[in-house]
Amino acid sequence: MIKIDALPAFSDNYIWLLQDSGQQRCAVVDPGDAAPVLAWLNAHPGWQLSDILVTHHHHDHVGGIAQLKAATGARVLGPARETIPERDSALKDGDCVEVLGHTLNVIEVPGHTLGHIAYYQAEQHWLFCGDTLFAAGCGRLFEGSPAQMHASLQRLAALPERTLVYCTHEYTLSNLRFAQAVEPDNAQIAERLQQVAAWRQAGQISLPSTLALERATNPFLRCAEPAVIETLNCREGAENRSSAQVFTRLRAWKDNF
Ligand code: ZN
Ligand code: FE
Repeated sequence: MIKIDALPAFSDNYIWLLQDSGQQRCAVVDPGDAAPVLAWLNAHPGWQLSDILVTHHHHDHVGGIAQLKAATGARVLGPARETIPERDSALKDGDCVEVLGHTLNVIEVPGHTLGHIAYYQAEQHWLFCGDTLFAAGCGRLFEGSPAQMHASLQRLAALPERTLVYCTHEYTLSNLRFAQAVEPDNAQIAERLQQVAAWRQAGQISLPSTLALERATNPFLRCAEPAVIETLNCREGAENRSSAQVFTRLRAWKDNF
């Protein structure tokens, strides 16, 4: 039985910490800063950090790797197509890796960066998706095209609806404000906005999400919904847009929202 906690880092990052209490072993995802992980290890004597999983090369995801590896000897797993410090295992689409006794499937999800990968655990329904799929949003396009990001999100959205979405940033509240601008009449978005606002006011995390909730409230997974198409027709003129084109316009709008 693995317990997953979020270690906050910087202003809005989470370093996911997977804990196997039977073996007193743990793994982390995207340690942009070593300090929160080292503090946890210091507070839990006898525990060993076995693996460091990395989704992409941005500093807020890789900044703590070298220090953590030097301190613990942990194995570093990361995308083959990107430069990842201290990487031991270079992962491509379709690869499987064993972490804390569980098999993780590697899914390449280009868009935010070109080599970005996600990790999926089919029995436990974990999805560690970095800066690709966010709760009620998606990552900015730094390297990839809108069409690439749209295809990547479609792949993630096709996973089972009970999938737990462990993304890296606490952006949910601002994402939901945008979602509400896109779909003012969507009751689930309104309800989620209220709930997340209350959680954030109380200092609580809004993650993990589920794919069921994302499909219902994340505009970037709803590019084929009539209400989303209608909003764009009103804003930008009626046009026969493909889902990928709807995604492109939504992402550009969100960039300036
Ligand atoms: Zn990033
Ligand atoms: Fe990030």
